[in-house]
Amino acid sequence: MEKLHLATHSKLRTGWATEQQPKSLKQCEESRLCKGAWATRGYCPRSRTIPISVVQQPLFHIFSNAAEIKDFRKRLLTWYNKCKRDLPWRKMAAGEADADKRAYAVWVSEIMLQQTQVASVIGYYNRWMQKWPTLQHLAEASLEEVNELWAGLGYYSRGKRLQEGARKLVSQMAGRMPRTAEELQKLLPGVGKYTAGAIASIAFGQVTGVVDGNVIRVLSRVRAIGADPASSVIAERFWALAHALVDPTHPGDFNQAMMELGATVCTPKAPLCAECPVKQHCRAYHWVRRAFTFYSLCSPSLFFCGMVDVEECDSSTGNCSLCLPPSEPWEPSLGVTNFPRKTTKKQPRIECTATCVLQRGCCDQQPEYLIVQRPSSGLLAGLWEFPSLLLKPGHQNQQKAALASHLQTWVGIDVAVGHLQPVGEVLHIFSHIRQTYKIYFLNLDKEKGNWNEVVELPASRWVTKTEFQNSATSTAMKKSLWKVRACMHILTAATLNMGRSNGCISLPCTLYGASCVLDVS
Ligand code: SF4
Ligand SMILES: [Zn+2]
Repeated sequence: MEKLHLATHSKLRTGWATEQQPKSLKQCEESRLCKGAWATRGYCPRSRTIPISVVQQPLFHIFSNAAEIKDFRKRLLTWYNKCKRDLPWRKMAAGEADADKRAYAVWVSEIMLQQTQVASVIGYYNRWMQKWPTLQHLAEASLEEVNELWAGLGYYSRGKRLQEGARKLVSQMAGRMPRTAEELQKLLPGVGKYTAGAIASIAFGQVTGVVDGNVIRVLSRVRAIGADPASSVIAERFWALAHALVDPTHPGDFNQAMMELGATVCTPKAPLCAECPVKQHCRAYHWVRRAFTFYSLCSPSLFFCGMVDVEECDSSTGNCSLCLPPSEPWEPSLGVTNFPRKTTKKQPRIECTATCVLQRGCCDQQPEYLIVQRPSSGLLAGLWEFPSLLLKPGHQNQQKAALASHLQTWVGIDVAVGHLQPVGEVLHIFSHIRQTYKIYFLNLDKEKGNWNEVVELPASRWVTKTEFQNSATSTAMKKSLWKVRACMHILTAATLNMGRSNGCISLPCTLYGASCVLDVS
């Protein structure tokens, strides 16, 4: 006890009133409050530091106790069976007896869910599985069809890789899905360690853990891991933890339960700790509660004013590679959200593209728009877009002239810079690029004499508004057309300013047809 007491008080901080420091075990034991705390918690409540002997266990950041692991699994699985969200891929995986179909259904869902919210994926997933219910169906699809179905979901290379993977499995493996995480990762394009583990555990029951953003958040809080999860060494520690923890009899459910917990309870900013099924095993949760109780006993104001200094595992030597780094210590006001440590994201590249919505068709015709196809590799591979020109840095001021010159490729004539009408900007954030589209509009009107004959190149076509909406175009392009139509509409209304009644303007509009009504109220 003496040893423990000395350890407890060996880390006195400056600013702590000397008379409040228990100087000896005897002095400590004289206090009723201290006696109680020693008995129940094993440390002195009058110290500003929680003793290493209490907080710092040798195996502080891992699960080393078999009974604890068993209890953690049981609590998590019980909660998951009761509270899991009803999602189409879960139904498919649970109800499909054919292992290849089951794994295919999980594979599609896991790829769609990469970087994408569940709510956005559900509709796409249902349409995909209806159109291509098996690997064989997908292998026969064209990239154009895949891109059309994927349009709007983002990260388009994912759809392409699914199709490439299906073709590979059909041609090389007789349509059989690989049965292990190792094989899945080796054979399927776009399938990394996490996706391979998820498919193998959910579809084939392989006992392997998985680590994604949700799992990192849960594990870092449960084991108080404050080291940077982006570091490869630390990432390996998370994988080791996940493998140690996964339930051997229900690995698929366990992995999904961990992710479900991270998505619905242990959320990034507002975790619902009171409802958490594993709070009994959560170091971060216990830290917050203990610190709160502990400092409330001494001086509640100290806790709330941010002066609490919660001891970390092995912080005495600064040697623990899993603790919060000394440069970013525990911040009381953040509670459990001190974990995981925020990784410094690489700033996205800033790019600017000039885009022209080229329209043809007069008042008595449905307008059509020229779209051109992007190269088959690289960003937005194979997708269709309005003629666009990536602007060089510093050339933004010459963008109109550059775009007009570029348009000659597509329309075969000189395009007068003055005919390009600027209609605004559309911002689109890709994973690594912050792209601003400067949108222009050009109406190819024979009567105005700004075009004679359009040269249609192989990778271009004219489409109506409906055809455009059903084609493989990105969200940014859809927004661009919407912007043009809204802008032209308002311009027409302002110019004509006629037929105004009840807050609406009737427009003999070139864009929407003869009887279009615009609500301007
Ligand atoms: S107790 Fe709170 S911090 Fe810990 S795992 Fe549960 S929700 Fe996350
Ligand atoms: Zn530590």
